[in-house]
Amino acid sequence: MIILKKLKTMKKWSLKKCKKEFWSIFSVYIRLRDKGVCFSCGTKIPDFYHRSGNRLHGWKAGQAGHFITAKSCGLALYFHEQNVHCQCHQCNVNLSGNWVEYEKKIIEVYGQDVCDMLKQLKWTGNVVYKAHNYIDMMIEYSAKANELEENYADLSI
Ligand SMILES: [Zn+2]
Repeated sequence: MIILKKLKTMKKWSLKKCKKEFWSIFSVYIRLRDKGVCFSCGTKIPDFYHRSGNRLHGWKAGQAGHFITAKSCGLALYFHEQNVHCQCHQCNVNLSGNWVEYEKKIIEVYGQDVCDMLKQLKWTGNVVYKAHNYIDMMIEYSAKANELEENYADLSI
């Protein structure tokens, strides 16, 4: 369950903090939406043992990984639902995104047009978000994530 900070506090955040906070919400939403299955290799996300010793299970063990990589994409792609999917640690980290399989899956699920559009957005998608944009998106996506979480059924059990 995502509980947002008070609006008054959020309005004082720097853009960097807004981006970071919104990413943590967006990432939860993406992993819940994809039901803890890796988009690029199709496997159910294995349990992940955090440095702290905690065992993460299901969607919580997954990572939200970018198709057009986070380092090279503008904000429009950084927070684009068709550019970000749940991935396993192996694909996202060890295989640096598992790009070839990721692209195949994008084409399979959304079609070539969307794949081309995402690649195009890499060059033209550098939008600017202001604090109030981030706050609106945080409100929207925390509600979407909370709703998914309420209805989340872990299929592995
Ligand atoms: Zn994978």
